Amino acid sequence: MKQQVAAIIPAGGIGSRMGLEIPKQFYELNSIPVLAHTLLAFQQTAIISSVIVAVPLDHLEHTERIVRDFKLDKVVKIVPGGRLRQDSVQAGLLALDSAIDYVAVHDAARPLISPELITACVMEAQKNGAAMAAVPVRDTLKEVNSQGEIRRTIDRESIWQAQTPQVVRVSLLRQAFKAAKKDNFIGTDEASLLEHLGIPVMVVNGSEKNIKITRPDDLLIAEALLMQEKKSFKKKKQIESKPFPRVGHGYDAHRLVPERQLVLGGVTIPHSMGLLGHSDADVLTHALCDALLGALGEGDIGRHFPDSDPKFKGISSILLLEQVISLALRKGFFLVNADITVIAQQPKLSPYMTKMKKNLAAACRVGPDGINLKATTTEEMGFAGREEGIAAHSVVLLAPVGE
Ligand code: MG
Repeated sequence: MKQQVAAIIPAGGIGSRMGLEIPKQFYELNSIPVLAHTLLAFQQTAIISSVIVAVPLDHLEHTERIVRDFKLDKVVKIVPGGRLRQDSVQAGLLALDSAIDYVAVHDAARPLISPELITACVMEAQKNGAAMAAVPVRDTLKEVNSQGEIRRTIDRESIWQAQTPQVVRVSLLRQAFKAAKKDNFIGTDEASLLEHLGIPVMVVNGSEKNIKITRPDDLLIAEALLMQEKKSFKKKKQIESKPFPRVGHGYDAHRLVPERQLVLGGVTIPHSMGLLGHSDADVLTHALCDALLGALGEGDIGRHFPDSDPKFKGISSILLLEQVISLALRKGFFLVNADITVIAQQPKLSPYMTKMKKNLAAACRVGPDGINLKATTTEEMGFAGREEGIAAHSVVLLAPVGE
């Protein structure tokens, strides 16, 4: 059965350390109350099914309004908190539904918590019973006596700074609270209550951004972090909306018949037969046009230049290619390169390759490196091998203009 995970948000503090008129959890951060930031993170975390908030008695209505305004429908109860954090968590625990298996306790004053970190802590607790977010200490730590004199430097290797969420199996947390009450033990977080009972708690790598708003300066830092997050979100959106390069493939084949000119890549090639078609039947250029249209998501050459239209009768396919390139540019793409293979048993095409490449490159508005042309026979196999027709394949890469 799926395990039910609830969150308890102790927000009972009255913010005496902040020197603010209102408790710190109700102070506005980018025009949104700190508490709303925190609750929104839990609202957006799929693994959390319900949330209980413990607030100062005179802020019950205010909190109800926040829950309504921000459509925080996971908040099932708002309860009066206590003087100590422990009292607020206890109040939340008493209000907890009996179906809940795990509870995530999180400081209301850590508004920059991410759904990812909440989920990571829950998953670790589900494996081991209890887990919490923490970060390794980076500064050198000194033990100082009451006269302000350093007694020693603490080895920071094994020192981590506690954060929240702290996630624990409900039965373990109830047990820890019972023991704390019996022993008159006061802890500054849930983990210390569990430690008091000898219950192991695992550490999950927290985030430096998951700061606790304790002093007025912290609000400035939080604002800066939010701004940065907003910027990177905007950048991500920009990248997502940026068009990607596109590839296309084209294939064409035309029948060889007497009394027609053989035109390939815009070059008229002396031969006993030519290709049959409504236009000049330049099979190579047709394959290239189809590849370009394919990359643009524009169907095929027949859709743009129907052979039922007399205006295209006998037309040079190079002119059609120029129109396809114009369409690509209108849609914001240019040709990076094209690779084309002509499949013909006869005639020998190598003497005409340079001129064909030049024609195609000019029509496509690319340099000489933009077009690669290859010719192959099929060793007398198949229709091309029997000289019944000539075929061509092409692949292209288009890139967005301005990249
Ligand atoms: Mg064709």
